[in-house]
Amino acid sequence: MVREINFYCRECGNGILLSGPPFPEMSRCEKCNIDYPVKADPALSGGRPLENCPRCDGSEFYVQKDFNRNLGLAVAILAALGVYLVFGLTWKSLVGLLAIAGLDALLYRILPLITICYRCKTIYRGFPINPAHSAFDLHVGEKYRKPS
Ligand SMILES: [Zn+2]
Ligand SMILES: [Zn+2]
Repeated sequence: MVREINFYCRECGNGILLSGPPFPEMSRCEKCNIDYPVKADPALSGGRPLENCPRCDGSEFYVQKDFNRNLGLAVAILAALGVYLVFGLTWKSLVGLLAIAGLDALLYRILPLITICYRCKTIYRGFPINPAHSAFDLHVGEKYRKPS
C-alpha cells in the first residue's frame, strides 16, 4: 500500500505531498525555498504505527476518516435533487433517496482512516493505525492552537 505524508508550507500554504516508502528525508517548497525535514522513523517504512511525528516530534495524533464530510453531503444533496427532478414526489424518488443515504453511509464506513499530528497538522495516509490514537479531541487540539 502506498503511504503518503501530506502537509502545508508554513509560508505560502502550498500542499506538499510525499509518497513512499522510502520517504525523502528532506522536502522543500520550491516557491519559498524552505526545506522541510522528515525524520527517518521506523514507522515510516515498517509495520509499526506512528508514535512520534517524523516532522515535529510531537507525540499526540488523532485519527479520522479520509473523507471530506461536507463534500459528501453536497454530493448527496445534489443527487437527491436530481432524483426529485427525474421522478417527482413518488415512491420511486423515495427509493432513490434511501439508496443515496445508504450509499453515503456505506462509503463512509469503508473509507480508510488517516492519522493527523496535532502539533504540525501533517496527515499520514496509508499508515497502520495506532490503537492509542483516537478521534480529534478539542481539549488536546486547543493545546496546540497557535495564538493568532
Ligand atoms: Zn511555500
Ligand atoms: Zn507533527
